Amino acid sequence: MSTFRSVRGMRDFLPEEAKIMRYIEAKARKTAELYGYKEIITPVVESYELLAAKAGEEVRLRMYAFKDLGDRMVALRPEFTPSVARLVATTLRNEPRPFRLFCVGSLYRYDEPQQGRYREFWQSNFEVMGSNKPEADAEIIMLTNSLMESVGLKNYTLKVGHVGVLRGIFNQEKMDEKTENQVMQLMDRKQYDDAFRLVEEAGASKKCITTLQELIELKGYKVFDIVEKMRKSVEKYKQSVAAVENLQEILKLVFESGCKINMRLDAGFARGLEYYTGIILEIYVPELDIALGGGGRYDRLIELFGGESTPAVGIAHGIDRIMLAMQKQNVTLQKEEKKNVMVIPAKDELKGEALKIANLLRNAGILVEVEVMGRKISKALEDADRRKIAYAIIVGGRELKEDAVMLRNLMKRQQNVIKIEKIAEKIKGDCS
Ligand code: AMP
Repeated sequence: MSTFRSVRGMRDFLPEEAKIMRYIEAKARKTAELYGYKEIITPVVESYELLAAKAGEEVRLRMYAFKDLGDRMVALRPEFTPSVARLVATTLRNEPRPFRLFCVGSLYRYDEPQQGRYREFWQSNFEVMGSNKPEADAEIIMLTNSLMESVGLKNYTLKVGHVGVLRGIFNQEKMDEKTENQVMQLMDRKQYDDAFRLVEEAGASKKCITTLQELIELKGYKVFDIVEKMRKSVEKYKQSVAAVENLQEILKLVFESGCKINMRLDAGFARGLEYYTGIILEIYVPELDIALGGGGRYDRLIELFGGESTPAVGIAHGIDRIMLAMQKQNVTLQKEEKKNVMVIPAKDELKGEALKIANLLRNAGILVEVEVMGRKISKALEDADRRKIAYAIIVGGRELKEDAVMLRNLMKRQQNVIKIEKIAEKIKGDCS
């Protein structure tokens, strides 16, 4: 046996898993269609500079970065947003707004491999560009709910926060951006003591620390009550008050839309990526303690990439983790698999006929495999049985003279001679 293995953190999707992955991808694509998001396909390799610009330490240090043969510093994308922002700042800059973009594909981060954490993983990504209105944020929440619901997940919760609330405090305290980002990252990792120490060292007021301490305690499912408490807590910080109002407006719109997503507001919630400016979101199921998706509003990113000021909000859904959650919740995939057929030539001279019949059936929309191992009929039938194929068609010389074949129902163990022109009709009839 060969000793080759997949590289640490990389994995293979065998047919069963590949099927679920593509199923989720198809649901994401359907959601994009339903909400008017147009798909774009961007490269896996981008310039290191672009990807590193606003990624945040966490992601920046884990990039697969290298020099290509042309001496360019490049990296495998760790997220989609920089590529989307690059397009919006350049090629798409004159598009009428808003534009809604969807992408799906693989991403690369040198994370420590563990359950639900891989070095190559997959996301579906939705972004609305050009609107700073709360209805755009509400839409991102609603489509996330639609996607989670459509893949069959239950009991998922959307964790909601607003970086504007924290940033408002830091701005008024005149904290520099670097420290602010460091504090946010520490808060993201719930290392509150370290975060507060840094805030103190940066010369922030006592009130700042007490406000932050109050905020990290404010969390729960009664989102409108918590919003009120947040407003009280930050009343001395003007920008933060505006942020709380924005948050309230978004939550109200989600509520008014009739979307029943379970939301948990967490006032001390921060996210690792530096570019967020408004609402931030993460999605969880009780069976896993890692997020199935994350996103938020980032109003300044496009400008940072040299584009026109373009407010934006988006979310990425981790397909690998959605799959894991579906497996944990024993979700069965909708849509019964179509009945499939194995075509077996009775002897070598009939191989061409077997291929011809197979094609005829495929053109009628039936899933067909042809016996390609040169096995005897009995062996080929055994194999078809083992792989749970529904029908076998045995192409024999005698029947063929009458333009017919033997059709064997492998589940019922019945067989009949049938005219070739009638096979598709018969199989489809049996399926319905
Ligand atoms: P982020 O861009 O870090 O907010 O990630 C968004 C989503 O992508 C997460 O909520 C996960 O579902 C997924 N994700 C991020 N990193 C990984 C990883 N290393 N392995 C699998 N999924 C990941």
